[in-house]
Amino acid sequence: MVYKIDVNVCVGCGACVTSCPVSAIEQKEDKCIINADVCKGCGVCESTCPVNAISQD
Ligand code: SF4
Ligand code: SF4
Repeated sequence: MVYKIDVNVCVGCGACVTSCPVSAIEQKEDKCIINADVCKGCGVCESTCPVNAISQD
């Protein structure tokens, strides 16, 4: 199970990028994306996001 970011909800705060233990999240301008090939599905980023933009894919 991997996680995804809803770009329509993400406000680009960057909190998830530093929370990910395997560096699966990359910031591109004002949005972030999760690399599904790297994500381990730990869920840490989901609990970090202040606007609940991250959920299981
Ligand atoms: S679920 Fe875990 S491994 Fe996957 S992007 Fe979020 S923090 Fe990183
Ligand atoms: S923590 Fe949430 S709002 Fe902040 S960059 Fe990540 S997905 Fe976007």
